[in-house]
Amino acid sequence: MEIVVLRLGHRIARDKRITTHICLVARALGANKIIISGEKDQSILNTVIKVNNNWGEGIDIEYRKRWKEVINEYKKKQFCLIHLTMYGEKIQNTIQEIRKKENILIIVGGEKVPSEIYKEAEFNIGVTNQPHSEVAALAIFLDKYFDSTELEVNFKDAKLMIKPDLFGKKIIHVS
Ligand code: SAM
Repeated sequence: MEIVVLRLGHRIARDKRITTHICLVARALGANKIIISGEKDQSILNTVIKVNNNWGEGIDIEYRKRWKEVINEYKKKQFCLIHLTMYGEKIQNTIQEIRKKENILIIVGGEKVPSEIYKEAEFNIGVTNQPHSEVAALAIFLDKYFDSTELEVNFKDAKLMIKPDLFGKKIIHVS
C-alpha cells in the first residue's frame, strides 16, 4: 500500500506556511510521500528532511514542477487518483470504496484548481461541502482512510520522542 499526496500550485510568497503544514500532516497521519508542484521552495523540503531526522523516518518528499507529469506517471502506475474538493461527493459515502484501493494519489489544491484535475480524478471527494482548508481536508481524509489506526504508529529511527503527559512537556532523547 502506498499513499502519495500531491500539492498543486505552491507559491513561495503566499503558501509557505500552509504547504509546510500539508507536509507535516501528511507525514504525521500516515502518507508515504509528498510531491510539491508549482514553485520550487527548497526551505520546505529542508524542513521536512529535518523533521524526519529528529522525529523519525516518516515521509519522502519530492518537488516536481509540472503536476501533469506527476498525474500521468501515477496513472501509469495504476494509482487511484483522489481529488479533495468542496464540490466532491461526501467522504462518508465513499471512504469504504476508497479503502479497497491499494495505492492512492491524494490531490490537494491551492487557490485555483485546473478543471482537468476534476476529470482526471477517479474520485472528487468533499470533506463537507463547505469551503475550508487543504490541511484540514487532508487530515480528515487520512484519518478516515486509516480508520484512526495511524494515530498509534511509531516512527522509525527517531532521535526525539514525546512521552505523552497530561500536565506538560516530556521529551525523550534517544541515543
Ligand atoms: N474552491 C476550492 C475547492 O475546490 O475546494 C477551495 C479552495 S481551498 C482555498 C484550497 C484547497 O482546499 C482545495 O483545492 C481543496 O483541496 C481543499 N478543500 C477546501 N475545502 C474543502 C472541502 N470542503 N473538502 C475537500 N477539500 C477541500
